[in-house]
Amino acid sequence: MEKTRNWNKTNWHHFPALQQPNWPDKERYDEIIQTLSLLPPLVFAGEIRDLKAMLAKAVRGEAFLLQGGDCSEEFSRCTAPNIRETLKVLLQMAVILTYAGNKPVVKVGRIAGQYAKPRSSDTEKINGMEIPSYRGDMANSADPVLEARIPDPERLLKGYHLSAATMNLLRAFTRGGFGSLHRVQAWNQEFVKQSPMGRSYERMAKQISNALKFMETIGISTDIPQLKEAQFFTSHEALFLGYEEALTREDSIAGGWYDCSAHMLWIGDRTRQLDGAHVEFLRGVRNPLGMKVGPNYDSDDILRIIERLNPDNEPGRITLITRFGFKAIEKHLPPLLRAVKKAGLHVLWTCDPMHANTFKAESGHKTRDFENILSELRCFFELNWVEGTVPGGVHFELTGDDVTECIGGARQLSDAQLGQRYLTTCDPRLNAEQSLEMAFQIAEMIRS
Ligand code: PEP
Ligand code: MN
Repeated sequence: MEKTRNWNKTNWHHFPALQQPNWPDKERYDEIIQTLSLLPPLVFAGEIRDLKAMLAKAVRGEAFLLQGGDCSEEFSRCTAPNIRETLKVLLQMAVILTYAGNKPVVKVGRIAGQYAKPRSSDTEKINGMEIPSYRGDMANSADPVLEARIPDPERLLKGYHLSAATMNLLRAFTRGGFGSLHRVQAWNQEFVKQSPMGRSYERMAKQISNALKFMETIGISTDIPQLKEAQFFTSHEALFLGYEEALTREDSIAGGWYDCSAHMLWIGDRTRQLDGAHVEFLRGVRNPLGMKVGPNYDSDDILRIIERLNPDNEPGRITLITRFGFKAIEKHLPPLLRAVKKAGLHVLWTCDPMHANTFKAESGHKTRDFENILSELRCFFELNWVEGTVPGGVHFELTGDDVTECIGGARQLSDAQLGQRYLTTCDPRLNAEQSLEMAFQIAEMIRS
């Protein structure tokens, strides 16, 4: 039995909740939350339990977590091609990592609900005027004008419906043949195909296709769900707690509360206070939980939060997503690895090499350098190996699109090129080619 004594899904209201939009029309907000609480769940408890079991394997080093997607999904980009391209690049990366690491790769998208953003500042200065910050499409619009930035609760409902539409397409793609390993060559995107990364991918995909053909030739059926279907899970930052509460349902079969807005939820670096509303809410839902940990952490505090969220020390429940930056990881990761290990807490160690490597380019764009991202990842693996802990996963902001948001990579994307296709409304993402390259680089680190 999980120790969720004295928990109910509304109790977080008595705790300080940071990073919540200031909804101007409270009455309409309450109506919408009520409507949401009656709408169907987006995911099911059984799927959530499956994911947790797979993450438990990753804790033991028997699987590897690949989590990635947009920093912030956008309502206007909820289209079939967009969803398909993001899924494709994640499937491609997963196959590269599986092939190198000889372990199943657990695929978790930042998708189908990644619409709420924490911000460092409540306001930003645009053309000399101080206006409220963009907090994700589920709160306000990214347009840089005052009216657009006023939180609108109708957006919560729209976010739910678009998450459902995204989920529906993901299910169709992954179950209906698109995610089949028989299509491993077809996942290579047209614009990537001609690049060195695309060609490396093509070679590996051909080897896999040949292996499948060989199996068929000698009479082993490849007509099995393990090859014909991809297992794909969803995740987002559990930030707007009213929305998360409304999607939290009791499992009618096995009992227990599940936040059915996504399979996995994470707590951001800005909202993980031990006595804050986010920890209070999430301790009672049985989903696998991620927790971001940035350079300003306190070890004892982290141990206490983990114990509060996972009193039974269940493996697969907690994924620590560390984000220290390539310069600071060597200082900050080892003490945390040691403290958690010493306390005997089962966590999945993963690295987000994006969030502490952001800087402003000369062109004025917020960017990240491929080399710095890779450097943080390398350190992450090496420091885990030194400490005898398991580096069990990676967390990226990426897109299947051909954007120019992060500099570097095989094509040496330059500062001057950032303006060509800089589409993100929030943080810069790796494009499809840079994502594949990153996967090949990680493959070298985990090759067995
Ligand atoms: C994010 O993942 O987009 C994010 C805001 O992360 P963090 O909480 O680590 O800053
Ligand atoms: Mn981000």
